[in-house]
Amino acid sequence: MSQPNNPKAPVEGANFLKQIIEKDIETKKIQGQVVTRFPPEPNGYLHLGHAKSICLNFGLAKDYNGRCHLRFDDTNPTTEEVEYVESIKNDVKWLGFDWNEHLYFASDYFQQLYDWAELLIKENKAFVCSLNEEETRKYRGDFTKPGQDSPYRTRSVEENLDLFRRMKVGEFADGAHVLRAKIDMKSPNMNMRDPLLYRIRKAHHHRTGDAWNIYPMYDYAHPLSDAIEKVTHSICTLEFQDHRPFYDWCIENLPTPGNPHQYEFARMNMTFLVMSKRKLLQLVKENLVNGWDDPRMPTISGIRRRGYTPESIHLFAKRIGVAKAESLIDFEILESCVRDHLDEVAHRAMAVLNPIKVVITNLPDGHKEEVHTAVHPKKPELGKRALTFSKEVYIDANDFMENPPADFFRLGPGKEVRLRNAYVIKCNEVVKDASGKVTELHCTYDVATLGGKPTVDGRKVKGIVHWVSAVDNVEVEVRLYGRLFTVADPENTPEGKDFKSNLNTDSLRVIKNAKVEKGIVTATPEIRYQFERVGYFCLDKDSKPGALVFNQTVELSTGH
Ligand code: ATP
Ligand code: MG
Repeated sequence: MSQPNNPKAPVEGANFLKQIIEKDIETKKIQGQVVTRFPPEPNGYLHLGHAKSICLNFGLAKDYNGRCHLRFDDTNPTTEEVEYVESIKNDVKWLGFDWNEHLYFASDYFQQLYDWAELLIKENKAFVCSLNEEETRKYRGDFTKPGQDSPYRTRSVEENLDLFRRMKVGEFADGAHVLRAKIDMKSPNMNMRDPLLYRIRKAHHHRTGDAWNIYPMYDYAHPLSDAIEKVTHSICTLEFQDHRPFYDWCIENLPTPGNPHQYEFARMNMTFLVMSKRKLLQLVKENLVNGWDDPRMPTISGIRRRGYTPESIHLFAKRIGVAKAESLIDFEILESCVRDHLDEVAHRAMAVLNPIKVVITNLPDGHKEEVHTAVHPKKPELGKRALTFSKEVYIDANDFMENPPADFFRLGPGKEVRLRNAYVIKCNEVVKDASGKVTELHCTYDVATLGGKPTVDGRKVKGIVHWVSAVDNVEVEVRLYGRLFTVADPENTPEGKDFKSNLNTDSLRVIKNAKVEKGIVTATPEIRYQFERVGYFCLDKDSKPGALVFNQTVELSTGH
């Protein structure tokens, strides 16, 4: 059943950002600490793509003895919620990172950003434009056609200042005016064609309330926030590459305290997943999953509930490295990282998901004995666990075949198998109900074979199956998960269909009456389990005393 984990997985992938930082340190381009930041917009829960960015930014800071800031990019008042801020903090902490006192909000800089905007106006580097959206688009040109100057570009400094101040105090309706940088409408880079700095938004902000009627654009706020915090390496995804000249323009044209530089790496995409907060929000809002922390979701809260460990995510981030080119990562690489870590830490237990009763006929009625085995085969310090071996036990129905082929080494009529951690048994009789369904297997056990001992006469017994006492066990609910999507590239859909048409309608299977060894009553969500020969599991938050629920974290091996 189990195979070695992906032997081809590299131990550590390449990371070109390390080379850049090392060179910057060597050439004294940066003098003090390396400072990075993770700048989420609080408009949804974080996903695995963010996890990669968090590991990268906090990881680089750690590697070079620097620091990483957690900054909420809350410049857009209409989509942001306090709930998201709290969940993001939790997720970063869960991944094992600490921003210490460096928790920031872009909204804390609104006054400074405003003052700098006035400065740009005074230096004739920004102007109030009153074209409507459609006209603005027309004037902007496109990739083949240069743009044209806005007719408002020649407004005087005084008029610009007056209008901008009146925008600020709320004299105008949304969309009436915007503030734009005065750069170059003929630039081959569209982002340099007098980009927007401010727009009017009469919206309530989760932190600044109704103080502002204008809000800065991301492209203006981001470089300046980096500079205020004296970030040295501002790492973002590739789609911002063409925005870098404007990033630099902001730093060059304003008296900022810091001198940050932007570097881009490829956004991580993964097979069988979608990685966009907007799309994940749709799944939640349309009840296609059970909330943001549904264990099938690629959100950090989802994988946490599923039983993935922070260590396995770190391992994953290291293995995949950091690329400049678009990267589509195989979901199985992540799963093999999860297995590698869980194999090290998971407590072993036996659970039978699909029980069939075995009656051991050469034991007296009511027989019960305790057998002992390790909690973890390689960690004696975790101690031993006690299992009840009794006259009646359950094995998994899949471990029995009435007419087995020659290479089936588990139980069949007349065949022998070892009950893991206990005795060898032999199947003498198959009991069926009126419909022909197998209801019980009558077996005899070999008393000499306890705990892995060989048979006295040298008989070979190849198969080992897991089992649970039929009289001394815990009945639990087990939730088994399949992939959330049926295809490797869920966003690739035919005309008229969207990614949701690729949802796997069979991604959750619930088993109500799984039988687990008695010791499982002490399970906590922090302890991960390997149900031997079945997979890795963890206790779900829906559990109640006497009604435990387990999530399947990952199968024991690929290829099921
Ligand atoms: P989404 O499209 O899912 O909303 P986003 O980039 O808009 O993602 P932000 O909150 O703006 O989300 O992202 C915070 C940080 O996380 C950014 O620096 C961004 O580059 C990074 N990030 C987001 N998605 C990924 C991804 N798939 N791979 C790597 N980094 C990512
Ligand atoms: Mg975004």
